[in-house]
Amino acid sequence: MAAVWDGRGFVRLIHALHEAMLSAKAELNALDSALGDGDHGEALATAFADAAEKSSGLSEPTPTDVLQSTSQSLLNRMGGASGALYGTLFLRMSLAVKDRSEVDLQDWQAALSAGLAGVQARGKASPGDKTMVDALTPAVAAFSTASDLGAAFSAAADAAQKGAAETASMVAKLGRARFAGQRAIGHVDAGARSVAILFATLQKFWEG
Ligand code: ADP
Ligand code: MG
Repeated sequence: MAAVWDGRGFVRLIHALHEAMLSAKAELNALDSALGDGDHGEALATAFADAAEKSSGLSEPTPTDVLQSTSQSLLNRMGGASGALYGTLFLRMSLAVKDRSEVDLQDWQAALSAGLAGVQARGKASPGDKTMVDALTPAVAAFSTASDLGAAFSAAADAAQKGAAETASMVAKLGRARFAGQRAIGHVDAGARSVAILFATLQKFWEG
């Protein structure tokens, strides 16, 4: 169990997410190239670089400060459809832990549920539309039924990975990929894959 989820723990998490998105940049760009414009990995790596730098500059941050600062980096630096959606995810998470100096299992569950609700309110995607929601929905559901943080991060990472893989059999109803029609079949959605990477990173970070 590596982390205490206080403000400093969240700063370290944002740095871990930056490293993970840098490592996944080429893979995510390639997935987005198949059905979109090929910028998803670049956009995430750039935004999390900004988020990592900004979070390190916060003095005595609380969890909500770090998540809110990260949401601003995602909204301002990521661009595209998913910048607004990732920004909303982190913004809603930050609001859900507003008065907490440390974030526990229930806070995490509330934050992720609020984040998913925000993404769906903003992007109007349902499961099956071949978007990031196809990884986020099962991950949040799995997280919410676990009884300790270790089990929650592990179950969520597995569910996100499975949800992302399942997008390969879907036709896209939203985003640029909708123009690909049947050609989308066989390709994993880039945003669903990046959500799977996010949850895999959370699990790895928590396990240390
Ligand atoms: P853009 O399509 O503007 O270039 P990105 O390439 O960064 O943005 O992100 C593309 C990803 O955004 C898609 O793979 C999909 O998962 C996600 N996405 C697009 N539109 C929506 C939406 N309305 N709701 C949820 N996710 C969406
Ligand atoms: Mg794109």
